[in-house]
Amino acid sequence: MLIDTIIRAPLYSRSTGYLADGACAVAEGIIVAVGAAAHIVPLASATTRMVRYADDQLLLPGFVDSHQHFLSYVRSRESRLSLWQVVSFAQLRDTLQLAADRGDGTHWVIGVGYDQGRLHEQRHPTLAELDTMLPDIPAVIIRACSHIALVNSAALARAGVTATTADPVGGRIGRDADGALTGILEESAMQLVMRHATPAPVDWQGGIVRAAREYHARGITAIGEAAIGHIQGVTDLTLMQTAQAEGRLPLRVHYMGYGAVAEAWLRGEALVPTTAWQRAAYIKYFIDGTLGGGSAWVSQGYRDEVHNTGFPLYEDTALYDAIASAHQRGYDVAIHAIGDRAVDQALRMYAQVLTAYPRATHRHRLEHVESTRPELWPLFGAYGIIAGVQPVFMWFEESDISRLPDPLLPYAHPWASIVRHGGRIALGSDNPVVPDFAPVLGIAAATTRQNYHGQTFGAHEALAWQVAVDAYTADAAYALHAEQEYGDLRIGLNADFVVLDGGHPALPWHTRAVQATWVAGVCVYEP
Ligand SMILES: [Zn+2]
Repeated sequence: MLIDTIIRAPLYSRSTGYLADGACAVAEGIIVAVGAAAHIVPLASATTRMVRYADDQLLLPGFVDSHQHFLSYVRSRESRLSLWQVVSFAQLRDTLQLAADRGDGTHWVIGVGYDQGRLHEQRHPTLAELDTMLPDIPAVIIRACSHIALVNSAALARAGVTATTADPVGGRIGRDADGALTGILEESAMQLVMRHATPAPVDWQGGIVRAAREYHARGITAIGEAAIGHIQGVTDLTLMQTAQAEGRLPLRVHYMGYGAVAEAWLRGEALVPTTAWQRAAYIKYFIDGTLGGGSAWVSQGYRDEVHNTGFPLYEDTALYDAIASAHQRGYDVAIHAIGDRAVDQALRMYAQVLTAYPRATHRHRLEHVESTRPELWPLFGAYGIIAGVQPVFMWFEESDISRLPDPLLPYAHPWASIVRHGGRIALGSDNPVVPDFAPVLGIAAATTRQNYHGQTFGAHEALAWQVAVDAYTADAAYALHAEQEYGDLRIGLNADFVVLDGGHPALPWHTRAVQATWVAGVCVYEP
């Protein structure tokens, strides 16, 4: 065996534990030996390249972002207006007007990252206020959670939505007490307007290259694409496959099919050939909305809207049928469930399907799992349902949790409780639904339960650093059925690594910077 490269560094993985002076030997992109440097370094031949990282650095398996939206991120970067920094109506008006002035007048202004919880005003602008900000050009302002949008009258007019338009299935058109439109569209109601939008065009292939570099810069080497098909149907998949085939997408991608892609898979059309880089993995369903948007399905009214308990997107029988049809065709299922009633419904339907049609190797998941009740926690372990969670929400978006009423608050984001009751969690970012998707920030929030201001929320649910790092590597890979390929430092796995500064993994995470990212034995990123 000819070893191409030996990398020596302090390292951690589930299989090796922490080694203060460890090393990994790599041949043709695969790990061929790993352990104490004293055992690995002597394996070098005359041609082996020796790479040594400093004693205050840390080598880990490459991060696996098990739930994010790569193509949405590409689109956001390439053609959408970022509103993450907006903290007042005045700033919102200036940002919208600047974008309108820069355009050629034919494209709508589509803003992303907006959150009324960050505004001084602590509320959405009214439709009249939004019309004053941008009277002539259609504007759609998508909330950070992507489940709610504000639209101006120009956009409503182009879409033909009026006060008499009925709510679509799975959505709500905002109306005031007199029945007049508020300009707020929830869930599927957003599509009433978005299907008429003409945003600025996206350079998809160039954008994929630029976005992939941002992933490598954060140490991410593999991703779960959490709703492929939700932008342009099967075209989404074609864009990703073209980029990969032409060498522009050096990330390992496992797809959760949504909409037209999911329908094609369920009809038996593969669409994605399985390779070391890409494959079909999950069928994705959404069964409620978000806490920030007030559309997550909860058992008790929201703190600031006591009569609102959100709403379900599926009846029990419809959800059972959806899960069963994917399960029986050999697909795993990933269900977006945020409110405790949605989490309850999904766990019950999973339990019924798995009782009727047992399959030991399934990797069914619940995504987000933000609001729960204690009696639900043991069900994750009992049925092998993986909780796909995004602690980086806590780092950036404290406002969402604060909308829960007092009785539900102690059981929000129950990461340690799910693990303690025998369940497994897989971490991710939900990028681009967050201002930054760096895994070090997710691990910081997972291990400290703090937001970026340093406020702590439910410290008893903090994870030990080993559990958090494993959940962003080995368990995230397990959730994607890829534990024999990546997510750990083990002989036979892909040589995908991240090197961080900041020393021992018990030390703080939020200040760590990525020093190098390796994919298939090649260093693809250095600052
Ligand atoms: Zn998502």
